[in-house]
Amino acid sequence: MKVAVIGVGHLGRHHARILEKLPGVELVGVVDVNRERAEQVAAQHRTHAFADWRDIAFAVDAVTIATPTETHVAVAQPLLEAGIHVLVEKPMTRTSAEADRLIEAAAQGGATFAVGHTERFNPAVEAARSYVHEPRFIEVHRLGTFPDRSLDIDVVFDLMIHDLDLVLDFVGGEVTSIDAVGVPVLTPRIDIANVRLRFSGGCTANLTASRISRDRVRKIRFFQRDSYVSIDYSSQELEMWRLVPQPGAMPAIEGGKMDVLREEPLARELADFVAAARERRAPGVTGAQGRAALALAEQIVERMTV
Ligand code: NAD
Repeated sequence: MKVAVIGVGHLGRHHARILEKLPGVELVGVVDVNRERAEQVAAQHRTHAFADWRDIAFAVDAVTIATPTETHVAVAQPLLEAGIHVLVEKPMTRTSAEADRLIEAAAQGGATFAVGHTERFNPAVEAARSYVHEPRFIEVHRLGTFPDRSLDIDVVFDLMIHDLDLVLDFVGGEVTSIDAVGVPVLTPRIDIANVRLRFSGGCTANLTASRISRDRVRKIRFFQRDSYVSIDYSSQELEMWRLVPQPGAMPAIEGGKMDVLREEPLARELADFVAAARERRAPGVTGAQGRAALALAEQIVERMTV
């Protein structure tokens, strides 16, 4: 499969590193409007550099797009319409109206369309699936130090969207209420946000995302009637504790760290994309799922007390 990476900044260069080594893939080029950057990454991964994606569009079966979010629709739409398999980084687009255009283009072109919600491919998240059944309460913290990128979007679209996608996937059902607060601190955009979501099944999720913290924290915790599951996304650690009934006494609490085979989530995501394209099956995260997370992020920001 002939693949190119479009946008080789902070994240796209990792796409190139992984795709160069992926079996069955030929990395035919990397594209960046910053030609010097494209040439540097191309040299590193023994491939060709381009400054405009149109110059490589007829030579590829698939592309991954890691350009800034505001460019996703303009780059991805014509490629999808031309039947080229596309993985676009999260957030899928700026708005759900733009996301609809990509979903329509993918339906028209008939190729595989994936969205880069990388945490879905985190081995600790995958291992947690056999323990998370009916969460009643979910607590999420995604905190980071001030970045030099993605400041054109609210922290909800940059960081919280990872967890919105996961919570939607784990809980299912409708979001019935949203109570959100956000604070612009160092930028005119929301830099720190907290939201409490209620779902039709009765689950409540409390999510905090910040890009102005002193420490980096990436945690999600699921509270269920008879068990507790905790994931540290960064260290890929998974803990599970459960109640074990004891006749005539208080239940015992058993559990601890569960085995997780650590692997790079991005490498798993790209391998899934290539396999989905080859097998003509749906990828791990579809356009519809990317849109659902984006639409929820939009509603949160709309209803936010600032
Ligand atoms: P970045 O600014 O470091 O890199 C973007 C690159 O795209 C730059 O090199 C820029 O020159 C290039 N570019 C801009 N417009 C272009 C165009 N039309 N054609 C070709 N190249 C173009 O940004 P980044 O941090 O790498 O983020 C890129 C995307 O990846 C964003 O959508 C971001 O939200 C997403 N991202 C996802 C994750 C994740 O965990 N999945 C992590 C970081 C970033």
